[in-house]
Amino acid sequence: MAATKKILMLPGDGIGPEVMTEVRRVADWLSDKRGLGFEIEEALVGGAAIDAEGAPVSDATVAKAMAADAVLLGAVGGEKWDSLPFAQKPERGLLRLRKDMELFANLRPALVFDPLVEASSLKPELVSGLDIMIVRELTGGIYFGDPRGIEDMPDGQRRGINTQVYTTSEIRRVAAVAFELARKRSNRVCSVEKSNVMESGVLWREEVTKLHGEQYSDVELSHMYADNCAMQLVRRPKQFDVIVTDNLFGDILSDEAAMMTGSLGMLPSASLGGADASGRRKALYEPVHGSAPDITGQGIANPLATLLSFAMMLRYSFDLGAEAGMVEQAAQNVLARGLRTADIAQEGTTRVSTQEMGRALLEELHHSVV
Ligand code: NAD
Repeated sequence: MAATKKILMLPGDGIGPEVMTEVRRVADWLSDKRGLGFEIEEALVGGAAIDAEGAPVSDATVAKAMAADAVLLGAVGGEKWDSLPFAQKPERGLLRLRKDMELFANLRPALVFDPLVEASSLKPELVSGLDIMIVRELTGGIYFGDPRGIEDMPDGQRRGINTQVYTTSEIRRVAAVAFELARKRSNRVCSVEKSNVMESGVLWREEVTKLHGEQYSDVELSHMYADNCAMQLVRRPKQFDVIVTDNLFGDILSDEAAMMTGSLGMLPSASLGGADASGRRKALYEPVHGSAPDITGQGIANPLATLLSFAMMLRYSFDLGAEAGMVEQAAQNVLARGLRTADIAQEGTTRVSTQEMGRALLEELHHSVV
């Protein structure tokens, strides 16, 4: 029996609980059939936590998240809580978790499933088989640097200021995440900055190169300016394996890459923190989409983004690459059978509900072990 893996599930609001139910089924199946020893606990976050516990995330839930081996979150937010002051909104629950868990590396895969290749904004031959991982630095850079603000100038103009700041340790820790991920993938990292015009970019390139030489020389490292990377992503996206970049460039490039894969209902993500002495990293996995209030309660939400986020958890938090691959392959097979939730429906495919999609994925998993 494998060592127990503690998972905290936070379904949240809107379609969050609907899609999480399907993940729970798959997690229970894997735990049972593969002897993985998951210990799964659920708690509230977002509007659901405001209603029941008076805060978008309670101290007790934060403590559970800190103690868990990995956290899976559905989505937060909804009209009911829109008029609350900013500091009390459902989104604050997610922001507090990210802050308290010190999640500095955001992982956004751009993975194209062949049956959905037509949904991409690029030509099929460019994206067929695409599998990129963008690692975005999440807690530093220009979104957080000082000085910042808007000031009045003596000549009557106003000036808006933001500052791009990175320290050696901030660069090294996110680069280390990228190198380690690359070792579990195709072993290539492309580091992206603008060292041609920004000193923070010069430091970024120097530190990534230094760390590579010290600890990761088995991984192939290349460097690219961010503007060129934006072009290359639409010109020849399959040249990339892992891209590591700062907060601002990562924000933009990860959305650009997401468009290659079609639907919001298919996009998983992960946010990782520092490793402790045993190598365990704090980690929060979540779909990129929100709570989708327009379809909540209709049973038509696509559960695949959350299921694929769970697969990322298996691979990156638990080193269960084979099981992660099984879930990803099952998703691919279900799509190849022509089953589609409404968001990814195409002509000639069969429309299924959230539950039917989850059930079909479980069937595929069954077949894969028979
Ligand atoms: P959204 O992602 O919830 O929805 C955008 C559109 O995509 C909607 O038409 C929705 O029906 C569709 N969609 C999203 N996920 C889908 C899925 N799994 N299956 C099928 N269709 C899906 O974004 P929004 O409408 O801008 O925001 C709605 C609420 O979600 C807001 O309260 C917002 O603050 C919140 N939000 C939360 C997160 C998060 O929890 N991380 C992220 C984004 C938005």
